Amino acid sequence: MVKRNPAGMHMESAENSPGAGTTRFRLSGAKALSPSYNSKNVIQQRNHLPATVAAVLLTALPLVSQAPPPPAPPAPRPQPALYRNLIVLDPAHGGRDKGSQISANSAEKEVTLAFAQRLRPALVAQGFTVVSTRDSDPADELTTDQRAGTANHVRPLACILLHAAPAGSGVHIVTSSLVPPETTPPPGRAVMWNRAQAPVIPMSLRLANEVGLTLEAANLPVLLMRSSVPPLDNLTCPAVAVELAPLKGSSKNATSAADAGYQQRVANAIAAGLASFRTHNAPPPNAIPSMASPRAGVAP
Ligand SMILES: [Zn+2]
Repeated sequence: MVKRNPAGMHMESAENSPGAGTTRFRLSGAKALSPSYNSKNVIQQRNHLPATVAAVLLTALPLVSQAPPPPAPPAPRPQPALYRNLIVLDPAHGGRDKGSQISANSAEKEVTLAFAQRLRPALVAQGFTVVSTRDSDPADELTTDQRAGTANHVRPLACILLHAAPAGSGVHIVTSSLVPPETTPPPGRAVMWNRAQAPVIPMSLRLANEVGLTLEAANLPVLLMRSSVPPLDNLTCPAVAVELAPLKGSSKNATSAADAGYQQRVANAIAAGLASFRTHNAPPPNAIPSMASPRAGVAP
């Protein structure tokens, strides 16, 4: 289940009141899009040198004459805006944070982890490398800031937050409710931690759309929403939260989000949607400089 964000903004449990506090939007066809977003430096505070201290330092500097200038430092290697084949998965909850009770013997923290473990090979089959914020049930739960920090550090094509719900229907895809800035910040410009997602909201909406289309193509019911599920607002890459709710078919009994077959169908569709998003939105491979992987074994 997705939680209300600390600021209490635009956030509601999707399965309990799918219309309240959320904005639904329609799927539209995929389009070729401009590959023009860059990861941003994210800061929480900046230190400034007081003017008086700066003046003292200025006057105290020794005069240097005729000395050869020091050799220029080597130019830094250009940083890629993103790794077009890298996906971050964030199975929500864990440790003492069990999340919702999904079935008689499954807590949400177990369902999200199992779902991530099905999603990983489906993504690998599409040529992606996967980084997960957790691969087991940790003794202490990760904070949402820690999860966002992991994702922002590796600059993935997309980050997918995974939740599950005991009620509702189908697959809920949630995009941050932040409003994008009117002008695109210049590359390298610091952005506020609680608005880190704002500049990439258009990309995140395209991501939600692409994944929604492939889920629909797999005959899975989809609900697209806008809501600031933590830590969506803190992510610098395209990002959505995917909440797995029960699958209600023609029979009376709904299929639980803990069902392995249901999870596999959704995982396959999400992987196909991410592959489509990469095709339509990521910069071409030759536009990204080759560099060391963010983690061992991760290729750009
Ligand atoms: Zn949850």
